[in-house]
Amino acid sequence: MTAAFADTIFALSSGALPAGVAVIRLSGSRAIEVASTLAGDIPSNRKAALRTIRSRNGSIIDRVLVIGFPAPNSFTGEDCVELHLHGSRAVVSAIYDELAQIPGLRLAEAGEFSRRAFENGKMDLVEVEGLADLIAAETEMQRRLAVEQSFGGQSALYMDWAARLTRCRALIEAELDFADEDDVPGSVSDRVWAEVGDLYLEINEHIAFAKAGEVIRDGFKVVIAGPPNAGKSSLLNALAQRDVAIVTEIAGTTRDVLHIDLDMEGYLVRFFDTAGLRETEDRIEKEGVRRAQLAIEQADLIIQLEEIDSRSKQNPTAGDIEIIRVGSKRDIHGPSPAYDLCISSQSGEGMEELRLAILERIRSLWTGSLVPNRARHLRYLKDASNFIEEALNGRELDLRAESLRAAASSLGRITGRVDVEQLLDVIFSQFCIGK
Ligand code: GDP
Repeated sequence: MTAAFADTIFALSSGALPAGVAVIRLSGSRAIEVASTLAGDIPSNRKAALRTIRSRNGSIIDRVLVIGFPAPNSFTGEDCVELHLHGSRAVVSAIYDELAQIPGLRLAEAGEFSRRAFENGKMDLVEVEGLADLIAAETEMQRRLAVEQSFGGQSALYMDWAARLTRCRALIEAELDFADEDDVPGSVSDRVWAEVGDLYLEINEHIAFAKAGEVIRDGFKVVIAGPPNAGKSSLLNALAQRDVAIVTEIAGTTRDVLHIDLDMEGYLVRFFDTAGLRETEDRIEKEGVRRAQLAIEQADLIIQLEEIDSRSKQNPTAGDIEIIRVGSKRDIHGPSPAYDLCISSQSGEGMEELRLAILERIRSLWTGSLVPNRARHLRYLKDASNFIEEALNGRELDLRAESLRAAASSLGRITGRVDVEQLLDVIFSQFCIGK
């Protein structure tokens, strides 16, 4: 049974124009009727058909490919139609004009297609978030993580845990119900608590990988520190030449390049150059400095760069953050045992070793298994773990059963099977129009 949404919605679901093809998606009870008015009859069985779209006065707007997806076999679970147009601004705008004239039809809000898919049970929340990540993925590892999440792998893990908890609770409640009778052997209860103990370990092991999820999604942060003229900017440039630079800053928001994002073997690695951290009165630059400072506080690794044989031997301290001491300008001075690594940005000596040293640290974080990759998931996983701990350490059997129920419902909140109404607006508003 699909949820009833009064409006039929439409939006451009494809990317920036102009493009070879643009896709306008319609969803709702009137989608098929509206598309038929524009383009003539539409095959009803998810087959593509070539049609001519005409304006109200009969002139041709474009020849397009039309695909009808009758409910419930569509992205949203409602009747849907996709119009594959020639991707010019003028074509899209002319078709928008036609659609906007039709009563009961309106432009979709951000994330509205996905929201309808969720409400109609086509996707759970983890899958919806995974889809947003898949669409935003820039590196290979981000894509892999998002695929696990958006195609149900992650949900299956959480739902399996919730189901095991529920089964354990049912057995314990059965024991409560028959407490006065002798026909529930003590060994059943022992087995149940052993199972709960196993689950507790599995969930905590999963939680321990949260750092990997964060690194893959938000990047592994490397700060390049060192005195002026140590060769920090030259090192950044040398790294950028070999690896793919990802441009994430919107042009005009930062005056000074304080960091670069590189795709290193599929991992997003964000390098911060502390040379950019200087006193400034410029408002925009100040914001850049503030962000860079924040990143340094949250760095995963510090490269302490120093010209080999220079007198300014600094002894950096950085709390828990790991430091690699790197000597620079090896082409002039030759290698020195005083550093972990010696490099030359100019000749390239030692650069491969440095790249490998960085990658080794990232790879040690992730084994390729499923990991929690949003703060929201982590919060509920920790809740679940705490409730299970309460259950394991509790005394009264009915309270212990209640803790298991709370743990299962914390897991249910991750996928959205349990009351999440207040969360929905936040999650779906992160989407763009057309998704
Ligand atoms: P920063 O102030 O730490 O960013 O240092 P820069 O990257 O601006 O480099 C300072 C000076 O050292 C420049 O003149 C660079 O050309 C030079 N330099 C940097 N790296 C190397 C290197 O590997 N070999 C040599 N010979 N010169 C270098």
